[in-house]
Amino acid sequence: MSVLDDTRQLLRDLISYPTVSADSNLGLIKYLADHLHSCGARVDIWHDETGTKANLFATLGPERDGGIVLSGHSDVVPVADQDWSSDPFTMTERDGKWYGRGACDMKGFIAAAAAMAPRYARMELQRPVHFAFTYDEEIGCFGARALAAALQQRDLRPAVAIIGEPTMMQIIEGHKGCHEYTTRFTGLEGHGSRPDLGVNAVEYAVRYVAKLLELKAELQARAPADSRFTPPWTTINTGALVGGVAHNVIPGKARVDWEMRPVQPRDADYVSTALNQLCQEELIPQMRRTHPEADIHTEVIGEIDGLQPMDDNEARDIVMELTGCRHADVVSFGTEAGIFQTLGMSVVVCGPGSIEQAHKPDEFVSIDQMSQCLGMLERLSAKLV
Ligand SMILES: [Zn+2]
Repeated sequence: MSVLDDTRQLLRDLISYPTVSADSNLGLIKYLADHLHSCGARVDIWHDETGTKANLFATLGPERDGGIVLSGHSDVVPVADQDWSSDPFTMTERDGKWYGRGACDMKGFIAAAAAMAPRYARMELQRPVHFAFTYDEEIGCFGARALAAALQQRDLRPAVAIIGEPTMMQIIEGHKGCHEYTTRFTGLEGHGSRPDLGVNAVEYAVRYVAKLLELKAELQARAPADSRFTPPWTTINTGALVGGVAHNVIPGKARVDWEMRPVQPRDADYVSTALNQLCQEELIPQMRRTHPEADIHTEVIGEIDGLQPMDDNEARDIVMELTGCRHADVVSFGTEAGIFQTLGMSVVVCGPGSIEQAHKPDEFVSIDQMSQCLGMLERLSAKLV
């Protein structure tokens, strides 16, 4: 069977596992583990604390540092309320395209990597090739974070990571981070006529938002001169400010949902230091003068690390050579790439299909894109021997 036929069969099987982020991915992980194991790979499966999700990490070739990681997330976004022309979890082929949930985001890349595994296994590999398939990317990259911790514990240092998110096989060497937070203000309810007896949670939330606005302006001035992002600075958005019940009631609770998209990690530190200072030194002490149980608490909804474009990037050099693509771009969507970068790897995002089709009904990947991806992975063999 040709590698494209193998890939078609693998993708059909992968799509048939409805690995929506809210549900278990264990069936799919076991399927991939069996496949890679039968190729002779050393396979590790690392479960999350609930035992319903797992990461897979597998290696072909020598057990040493400096390997090349092919990475993809196993979870997909839900199909509820979407109008599909065919069953989203049954792959169908129409007009040179393979349709199904996850076809481009990103089971297509996983299928291609898995189809190459037996071919890599037949070679005398000098450089290890690793397969890293994670859970919960779509809801905050939790799987990749756990995988990173496991690799560190094992003291294994691969050198290069290719993240196969759909880029139409273009090379992406940078994206902003995406940090989402919910900050809750607990004050003390009371009658509007006696503000001195209550702690107005909405008013404290407003002061917090005022600080966010101040920081938003400061971040513009902190933009790196060579930033390639649009806009070039770290942005902050206040997405929701919720609280209160009526004109004459002091609101006891308020909530601010906000996000920050850092272009550099030190901006995120700058913002969190400033906000901590405001809460700990100013707002909370003032609130507690009236009500000792008053509090401000920030919940982390997700902190996706940015991918910093680097001057030296072996991953970019390799993928440029393999694809013939002469330039590398930055994009606005987040991926797991930044997490791999913090482990010291050089990283690019490059995979089949378009982000335009991701998360939508009738998601597809074209066979042409899959062939291009397989071409890249076949040429990668030369880098492994
Ligand atoms: Zn994705």
